[in-house]
Amino acid sequence: MTTDTGPAACAALCRMLEARTGLAAFAVLKAGSQGYDLAHATAAYRALQVSGALATPAGDPPGPAPHRLPPAALGLSAAACFVQPVRGAGGGSVGLVVAASRRARRAGPRLAAALEDAAAIAAPLLAALAPAETRPLADAGPSLPPPRRDPAAGGRTGVAGILPRSPAEAAARPASAAVGVLPRAAAHQLVASLLRARSRGEPFAVIILDIDRFRAVNEALGSEAGDLALGETWQRIRARTSPEDRVVRLEGDRFLVVTSPARRQVRGFAEALLAAVAAPIDLPGRRLALSASVGVVVAGPAETSPVRLMMQADTALRRAKAAGGGRLEIHEPVLHAALLDRSLLELDLRHALENGELGLVYQPYVDLATGETDGVEALLRWRHPTRGEVAPATFIPLAEASGLILPIGMWALRTACAAAAARPGRFALSVNISPLQFHAPGFVAEVDAVLAATRFPAERLELEITETVLMRDNPETTAQLRALIARGIRIALDDFGTGYSALAYLSRLPHHRIKLDKSFVQDMARPSTAGLVRAIIALARSGGIAVTAEGVERPEQIAAVRAMGFSHAQGFATGTPVEDPARIGEAAPAV
Ligand code: C2E
Ligand code: MG
Ligand code: MG
Repeated sequence: MTTDTGPAACAALCRMLEARTGLAAFAVLKAGSQGYDLAHATAAYRALQVSGALATPAGDPPGPAPHRLPPAALGLSAAACFVQPVRGAGGGSVGLVVAASRRARRAGPRLAAALEDAAAIAAPLLAALAPAETRPLADAGPSLPPPRRDPAAGGRTGVAGILPRSPAEAAARPASAAVGVLPRAAAHQLVASLLRARSRGEPFAVIILDIDRFRAVNEALGSEAGDLALGETWQRIRARTSPEDRVVRLEGDRFLVVTSPARRQVRGFAEALLAAVAAPIDLPGRRLALSASVGVVVAGPAETSPVRLMMQADTALRRAKAAGGGRLEIHEPVLHAALLDRSLLELDLRHALENGELGLVYQPYVDLATGETDGVEALLRWRHPTRGEVAPATFIPLAEASGLILPIGMWALRTACAAAAARPGRFALSVNISPLQFHAPGFVAEVDAVLAATRFPAERLELEITETVLMRDNPETTAQLRALIARGIRIALDDFGTGYSALAYLSRLPHHRIKLDKSFVQDMARPSTAGLVRAIIALARSGGIAVTAEGVERPEQIAAVRAMGFSHAQGFATGTPVEDPARIGEAAPAV
């Protein structure tokens, strides 16, 4: 019976490490004022001689974790030895996870990840340990017996004390005995540490797999056959995961897999796990066909709760069981496939920039007084590798919700300025700026840097902001607008009339242009709309503000908006957005 804290949990952690890494011996040590105390060691570790090398916590070992130490320095008779510091809530080291191998080993990514996870799990366990639950390291156990030939290791020299069990025992209960069960609380810690690591870019999905009717297997065939089947299931899951994935055994016949949807398609991966488990297992004297049920949840961008994620995966798993087992269910927040799709799309968006999937197109707008193209607006495009073109109306809100709009928006500004600077002519360039960007610290300095790097003159740049920016109607907003304007940059209020636009903004906040939303243009035949539009235009133009009609689709609408008093027009009638800024103007018909 395992409890979720204390030595039992440390023991479970050790078994999990053993199963994941194939390391033969390890210990969890707790830092105390006198040195390190033993929180738990595998039986094998206890058999190792532990010298005083760890007795004084002289800060963290040097170099990147896991630290590789000469086993002799720790007094361990092992071929390789690794030490992973356990960080407490304050960031300092509160203990160590020590792992030793009887074979020479390198700290590859799988080992590094396993030790990192173990340290993350160990932190709260160590914090909860009562002094009575630890023992001084010096009392760790009997001294190490001399090395002997190890038949289980194919005749190589092994160290008797490190072998977890006798070869006979190992043959009788092969893999499952090594597959330590991780207590729920520790599993939550593992998922929590992965969630935290997510800010470093790796998104993930939580998959829980449970063998169907496993109790019946145990009852009908005996627990030995059950253990064999479990061990085989574990091996098959492991064989289909990569070193970056996390696989642990949660309880009896239940496994947790954490993987990244950025690396692979989650549904397909979970289905492959199901199929792997369902392939017949050959036991001595009989063939066993198992099936499993799988619950999946993809962590949303704002998810921070490991408990909630695990519950969602559990709920999905229960649905799979209730539907008869042998199947997969994906947790969908409000049973909306669209939401899951949204999370998946957002995960893809994280890599869109670096994968070169984002691009800009340029749409000209004309000065209605001269009929000439006056400038172009840069518009983002996303060519998704499998979905094709994704509309900005779909991905810009995702980028805003996740903060990705900051790098993406800066990329758009830099790319557009560089493209416009390279093209002859004096046309203006309009770039859309999301409220998040506008209010981000250092925005003005970043604009300066882009202008300097691209040698694009500030006087030709127009930034399109929306009313959402202006809703933060405070002195800082005004000051920032003035700072931009002082550089010669012009400000346009985009999509005017759609949101919370108050005509009051027009007089309160400095700007050069309003772009009246296309819904007004499309609805201009209605007298009430026409009246409102006329009032807005009159107010704006009395203050010397340009007014652009958006969404001017048909040539005859150009005449209509000119007659209304608009100063500029933009829409399919003035030119469809083109990819190559060198072709701007060609696309614009004479107006
Ligand atoms: P917006 O700034 O109002 O851009 C004008 C939108 O109207 C563009 O949609 C354009 O393709 C579309 N359009 C142009 N002419 C016509 C027309 O005659 N009829 C109709 N019905 N539509 C027309 P798009 O490219 O889908 O962009 C949608 C919105 O996404 C933009 O609206 C803008 O708010 C946002 N967006 C696009 N690029 C960026 C960007 O780089 N940064 C930010 N923050 N937002 C962007
Ligand atoms: Mg715009
Ligand atoms: Mg607009």
